[in-house]
Amino acid sequence: MEKDILHDSFDREHLWHPYTSTLDPLPTYKVVSAEGVQLKLADGTMLIDGMSSWWAAIHGYNNPVINEAATRQLADMSHVMFGGLTHEPAIELGKLLLSMAPPAMNNIFYADSGSVAVEVAMKMAVQASVSRSGSHKKTNFVTILNGYHGDTWNAMSVCDPVTGMHGAFGSALPIRYFAPAPQVSFHEEWDPKDIEPLAEIIRSRKDELAALILEPIVQGAGGMRFYHPQYLREARRLCDENGLYLIFDEIATGFWRTGKKFAWEHAGVQPDIMCIGKGLTAGYLTMSAVLTTREVADTISRGEAGVMMHGPTFMGNPLACAIAIASLKLLESQDMETRVAHIEKELRRLMAPAASLPQVKEVRVLGSIGVIEMKEPVNVGEFQKKCVARGIWVRPFGRNVYVMPPYIINDDDLRTLIEQTIECIK
Ligand code: PMP
Repeated sequence: MEKDILHDSFDREHLWHPYTSTLDPLPTYKVVSAEGVQLKLADGTMLIDGMSSWWAAIHGYNNPVINEAATRQLADMSHVMFGGLTHEPAIELGKLLLSMAPPAMNNIFYADSGSVAVEVAMKMAVQASVSRSGSHKKTNFVTILNGYHGDTWNAMSVCDPVTGMHGAFGSALPIRYFAPAPQVSFHEEWDPKDIEPLAEIIRSRKDELAALILEPIVQGAGGMRFYHPQYLREARRLCDENGLYLIFDEIATGFWRTGKKFAWEHAGVQPDIMCIGKGLTAGYLTMSAVLTTREVADTISRGEAGVMMHGPTFMGNPLACAIAIASLKLLESQDMETRVAHIEKELRRLMAPAASLPQVKEVRVLGSIGVIEMKEPVNVGEFQKKCVARGIWVRPFGRNVYVMPPYIINDDDLRTLIEQTIECIK
């Protein structure tokens, strides 16, 4: 047996973890099982999960209903190619998604991960834009600073150039247009000046731009910021006036994380193309989807290629579809707005004391997302050591210590999670 059963030496020597150095890797903790909102470590330590495994495990872990759906699907088939074949799980999931999505959505492209969904959405926008405008120049993108859209090439290109990876990849990345991040926050009074820089870029660059891409309302991994719904209404108007498509990346915000089924509902404006992922498969398997309008889909099909130019091996994976169906049905069987509103109220109450700590810049809560922004960057390794010692799992980034727990978390566990998080900050 390893001397230290929590920190595996093979893992440390040979396995890459997200954003880690091989020279000085951050510690990793060995998990042996997970149940409800608890992760069990190799030494028996139980941790209350504050991260939903990066926004995905919305029903917590080892959910019997989803397990059953997965087991049933395994007995039929776990995978079959989607080229020329179809199956009931893909069809049923599609129907469910369209019943939940913005009404303008009509066509669905199943993809592998959030980043790939963003790639597909950007390809859709380019194909549709060229087909609609007849111009091969109208292929670039505008976005807002502080965004995050994934780690593949084009997704990276529209991530925040400072907090994202532009420094490492430099001229290898396509050049995009960046407007300043929205400054008016979700709960503040709208100031029309907030949209002016974006409006200026869109008006002056419209002949080059296929689309505006952004995360509606919540900028996640680019800074955990919540901005004003009016920004999205203005963005929609600008896209319409200047012939740009509007892409909403709802990969993190989807499935009630912000308090609404999808974040677009806070503003009441629909995108032309929408990416979903993460919670779609409740943290069981990797899968995402890109939804779009009939107009975009048919415009692509009338274009030069005549088809949507993408087709991954694991497209529409039946096992992932069956899991997603079970998860969506679970969500629909509950009053999720009330559930998330309760978590929001508790987060607000429990996190309020952190606001007066000298090391804290701001505390903000929206839906089941709670953020404590520090004045200085957090030492992740040190912070996580403290978290594990206190029986919680929280992984900060940059200056943000944040939680978005599984929706099934009870009040006692939520209290422990937040109280212990604040202790770790102290
Ligand atoms: N878009 C957003 C808004 C995200 O939060 C993420 C993941 N953090 C992605 C895209 C990329 O998803 P994935 O990690 O599944 O590729």
